[in-house]
Amino acid sequence: MNRYKLILLITVILATGFLATSLVSYQVSRVSIHDSIVDSTLPLTSDNIYSEIQKDLVRPIFVSSMMASDTFLRDWIIDGETDIAKISKYLQEVQNHYGAFVSFLVSENTGNYYYGKGLLKQVNPKEERDAWYYRVRELKNPYEINVDRDMAHADVLTIFINYRVLDYQGQYLGAVGVGLTVDSVQKLISHYQLKFKRNVYFVDEQGAITLSGNFDQPLGSKIMHTSELQRLFQQAKANGTQTFEYEYDGMQQLINMRYIPELNWYLFVEQSESEATSDIRHALYINVLLCLVVTAIVVLLTHLALRRYQAELETMATTDSLTGLPNRKAFDIVIDIFLNESSRTRGALALIVLDIDHFKAINDRLGHFGGDHVLVVMARAIRACTRAADFICRWGGEEFLIVIKDCDEHSAMLLAEKIRNAVENELIAYKGEQISITASLGVAVARTGEKMEHVLDRADAAMYAAKMAGRNQVNLSRLEK
Ligand code: GH3
Ligand code: MG
Ligand code: MG
Repeated sequence: MNRYKLILLITVILATGFLATSLVSYQVSRVSIHDSIVDSTLPLTSDNIYSEIQKDLVRPIFVSSMMASDTFLRDWIIDGETDIAKISKYLQEVQNHYGAFVSFLVSENTGNYYYGKGLLKQVNPKEERDAWYYRVRELKNPYEINVDRDMAHADVLTIFINYRVLDYQGQYLGAVGVGLTVDSVQKLISHYQLKFKRNVYFVDEQGAITLSGNFDQPLGSKIMHTSELQRLFQQAKANGTQTFEYEYDGMQQLINMRYIPELNWYLFVEQSESEATSDIRHALYINVLLCLVVTAIVVLLTHLALRRYQAELETMATTDSLTGLPNRKAFDIVIDIFLNESSRTRGALALIVLDIDHFKAINDRLGHFGGDHVLVVMARAIRACTRAADFICRWGGEEFLIVIKDCDEHSAMLLAEKIRNAVENELIAYKGEQISITASLGVAVARTGEKMEHVLDRADAAMYAAKMAGRNQVNLSRLEK
């Protein structure tokens, strides 16, 4: 029982120790990964994309500003927009020379929309697609950046620089500028998306996706897949750039939202924390498994060692070291088993007590070690007379006790006599001396329900009676009826 308590204690200590260490180190790594995503990874990606966009926009703004102040262009409008070939050649040249995607001019006077191939159409205040023009007309700033679909190029999503053109007196003449595709930005987003396994996309004021590195994600679809994200977006709109955490699809997501004033869009950089920490989680599982294996091995070894030592101790405690016979303690243990058995089989238990005659005299003659030698020889002689099923133990100094299962008085007496005879006939050689000894034996057969102490007393008394009667004899204890 104690052994199992000890093993349980060891298991608990080892398992808790190991688990605590693994969990703490996992937690520490997880927090540091989380912090590095929040503090550097997401903001840096966002910064990089933002600065790339700004870089892409500087040149077209400059080109548009040159166009707006070009004297040829202004004179051409003032002179009545007569030669369309001239202006389309001009616009074509600008487009080719500066690598712009489109270039355009809208005249306030005629409402004509010119581009590299000539006259595209006329702007109309009722047309929703032309709303930008009427906005630019009222603009306080010299220009605006507008992301829109380009009608001249199969409605490709385009970033337009819309510059106001004024005559030499500062009167409004129209709008001019270039447009560039969002291709380069799109490529950049895809690159970040693939390289860092994070989601990058742009969202407009209303929360619709305007640009995404994920081509599966249809443009214009609502990004607000959870009301939680919707709430965070409102918060970002109110407070500017921020990194948030939210849960989606059972995964912890980290998201950085930044307002891009040039585009009037929000840049979202999103990374799944669960994915980023999957490696260390994997390591944790392996760790825990190893801990369990190590704990199991340690517990098994401890169990085996304890069991062996316990068995050794038990043998030591129940064996007489001189003769190798079981001792009195062993008798106490086995007698209960014998009694149980005999009550089941209804076979009687017989006890024989043997005491060597005049052993003091032998000790005196041969010395203490000589006496010991005699005891060893006696034990062997008694053993030789009995069967394996009989139990023999050294009861005390020179007294032996034999327990025979399933045995009546007659058989017990026969065995006792056989032993007495064997002892008498045993010639013991010690240091050149030849000695022979005798023993007195008492026999008692247990009655039904009789206490073991009582049977022992009777066998002892019978043995004592044998001594009184002259020694070297067997005496049976009879119960008076
Ligand atoms: P009796 O015939 O009446 O039995 O005479 P006895 O001399 O045998 O008397 P008793 O039983 O009183 O003496 C037993 C002696 O056995 C006393 C003790 O010194 C000796 N003895 C007990 N244990 C050992 C032992 O382990 N080794 C040796 N050598 N002697 C022992
Ligand atoms: Mg004695
Ligand atoms: Mg004796």
